[in-house]
Amino acid sequence: MGYASFSGLDKVYNAVLAVREKPILVLLEKLRMWFMLRFNNQQRQYLQKWISDVGPKIFGIIEASKKDIYLHALDLAARSCSCRKWDLNGIPCVHAVAAILYRNEDPIDYTNAFYKKDAWSRAYAEIVNPITMLLKVWFEANGSSNL
Ligand SMILES: [Zn+2]
Repeated sequence: MGYASFSGLDKVYNAVLAVREKPILVLLEKLRMWFMLRFNNQQRQYLQKWISDVGPKIFGIIEASKKDIYLHALDLAARSCSCRKWDLNGIPCVHAVAAILYRNEDPIDYTNAFYKKDAWSRAYAEIVNPITMLLKVWFEANGSSNL
């Protein structure tokens, strides 16, 4: 119904209401922290939707690659193909997927580690803490400690 985008605006509006009495720098800092936490939570929720060790987009590319197979020179150990797609993006190309499946192995095992769930969850395991030092310096320079 299109209400989803408005519910996001409501949350931003409520976040602004909670800190609207604060000085502008504190307000902006609180909003920045709110957005960072929201983004972090969204990435964690996105991770729950993964049905494989790689994200849905990468999984879809690999599944589509299984359908279109041509002949190219492969080196599975070096994770390289003469079409250069695998070399460039770290995702097995159609030729590599065909060879990997022929060997009864999983193409996901040949996908670059930075596409995998472990790398994703490590990237978002901890909250990115905002840098409050600049705000403290600003308040100290202006004779205030209103944080
Ligand atoms: Zn290829």
